[in-house]
Amino acid sequence: MDKIVSLAKRRGFVYPGSEIYGGLANSYEYGPLGVELKRNIQDEWWNAFVRRRSDMLGLDSSIILHPKTWEASGHVTGLVDAMVECRHCHTRTRADHLIEGYFEKKNEKISVEGKTTEELDALIGANRIPCPTCKSFDWTPVRQFNLLFETHVGIVPEAQSKVYLRGETAQGIFLAFKNIIDSMRVSMPFGVGQLGKSFRNEITKGNFIFRTLEFEQAEIEYFFDPEAQDWRELFERWKNDMWSFVTGNLGIAGDHLRWREHGDEERSFYSKRTEDLEYRFPFGFKELWGLAYRTDYDLKQHAAFSGVDLSYTDPSTGKKFVPHVIEPAVGVNRLMAMVMLEAYAEADGRTMLKLPPRLAPYKAAVFPLLANKPELVARAREVFETLRRRFMVAWDDRGNIGKRYYAQDEIGTPFCITIDFDSLEKGDATVRDRDTAKQERVPIAALSDWLAGRLS
Ligand code: ATP
Repeated sequence: MDKIVSLAKRRGFVYPGSEIYGGLANSYEYGPLGVELKRNIQDEWWNAFVRRRSDMLGLDSSIILHPKTWEASGHVTGLVDAMVECRHCHTRTRADHLIEGYFEKKNEKISVEGKTTEELDALIGANRIPCPTCKSFDWTPVRQFNLLFETHVGIVPEAQSKVYLRGETAQGIFLAFKNIIDSMRVSMPFGVGQLGKSFRNEITKGNFIFRTLEFEQAEIEYFFDPEAQDWRELFERWKNDMWSFVTGNLGIAGDHLRWREHGDEERSFYSKRTEDLEYRFPFGFKELWGLAYRTDYDLKQHAAFSGVDLSYTDPSTGKKFVPHVIEPAVGVNRLMAMVMLEAYAEADGRTMLKLPPRLAPYKAAVFPLLANKPELVARAREVFETLRRRFMVAWDDRGNIGKRYYAQDEIGTPFCITIDFDSLEKGDATVRDRDTAKQERVPIAALSDWLAGRLS
């Protein structure tokens, strides 16, 4: 992980947040290459789950929703973590992370899901779990705190003006449900996908971009009639779709992934089944993507709190019912951390990011063989300008070719195109493949379509 964090900063993928002011915990900035990688992952998700499916629609709802939303959803009382503070160095940490981390170091597994604050206190006390920062054992009692960020609408911070930054994107989908069924011709089952920022007041050190204060969520609510459709079958279908997206579109090895089903004490009371797709991060198998069958809980809650009927009437049969939902929810930043970890490779003292070509920030780099030969530079520049109309391409004319290859390998550029003296005569270029280091000659006129072919 340290190597990824350092490469991410050095090569413009991810910078620590607010660094010139000494930093802000659990916040990051996505640099010029990071923003491309993140956007490519988002596009991949949006295309796979919204644009290319006839049973899906997209949505972009507000970050600030009516505050009743979060009462109805249960987040005001339910999105809580148990926290302890070290009286000695004032490190604050989640009690569950403290306890689980302590036992993990001893190679013992313990689950503290569903334990009360008293039970957590007892576990910390009985094992005399020290502060991970200063090693002293002087904790405050465990207390609950809410993860929702509060703010106020208007200029006077009164109770009535209190709102929240959304803690998940999913609730916006339920709020828009009525407008969607009234304005679009939909038939069951159908889903609504949304991509956007969510905010949580996370206090535990976040393991790079795995856990941050603000993050990009990609969530789907898949609505269906539970009498017409077996939820187990739909659940399995979603599991397959998630798995093939991660292994196919994002290029992750299947043996770095596993499913974990939530037990009764971990699962929300309204959910009939929840499973997490977990990735083998350097700090253990951790949740990447959650899949939950949430029944009709959310629509019914919003109907009760708003007084608006949120049922659906089947146009062919006239049957009226409140749809049930299956919710696949993932954080794009977690996907990006996984993609970078998976792509990282070292060979012969060189560092490479073997990113799937579609995700790579630059699809190709163009070089003139020699920077001091104007005719080579001019021809290479033409190739660069032609390709950049269609793709993100890099230009490099510094140092020797070997150094340029290494620099591009490190940021995951899949192809390097060199214009040499033969190119001027024969009209072709050398294309070098990042992963095999093999070179081939491709006619310059065909380069754009050649590259498109490699990316499809
Ligand atoms: P965790 O147990 O790791 O806190 P969660 O179960 O609270 O996650 P969900 O509410 O199910 O997470 O959110 C769905 C997805 O959103 C998660 O699977 C994860 O990919 C992402 N996510 C949640 N919290 C964060 C965060 N603070 N930073 C980055 N991604 C997050």
